[in-house]
Amino acid sequence: MTDDIVMIGDYLGTIEEFLPGEGTFAEDGKIYAAVCGQRTLNPKNHTAEVEGKRLPKLTEGQVVFGEVMTIRKSQVTLLVSKIKGIDTLIDEKTSIYVSNIDDKYVEKPDDMFGVGDLVKAKVIKINGNLVDVSTKGDMGVVKAFCKRCRNDLIPSKKKKGKMECVVCGHLELRKTAPDYGDIAEL
Ligand SMILES: [Zn+2]
Repeated sequence: MTDDIVMIGDYLGTIEEFLPGEGTFAEDGKIYAAVCGQRTLNPKNHTAEVEGKRLPKLTEGQVVFGEVMTIRKSQVTLLVSKIKGIDTLIDEKTSIYVSNIDDKYVEKPDDMFGVGDLVKAKVIKINGNLVDVSTKGDMGVVKAFCKRCRNDLIPSKKKKGKMECVVCGHLELRKTAPDYGDIAEL
């Protein structure tokens, strides 16, 4: 059985069902993808494998660009598609923990990001396949979309520190980068 493409950390099955094969790792009796690629669950020899695409591995200190996938209470998932200065497109899930969003205290990540926003972030910690990125300092949202109508947000002229929708005028907050709107590299 050959099916879809999986991402690093995607759940593949249990060790009762399969042997963890090439491109996978097992943790607490569960098998996960160690690389992005094509998932193969072979019922004949009971092996779960992932045939990986070659990816430039992220390293600490890199500046990356990605799209906000999910926003939870304590963390934001950022799907990184680009490393600054490197042409190859990638596809790596990273996390922005609430404490790594801003230099000042952030109560709710939901106040600082919107799903679909484009973000510039710095890789601060790599632990196995878990990558933490930060939007402190001059990192942050570089393009944001209105939560009400999905059109572009621009820094508001009327309300300092707020972002304003170009179409419906909705005011929102974001943790923006100082070069907000400069997405030439994306
Ligand atoms: Zn709007």
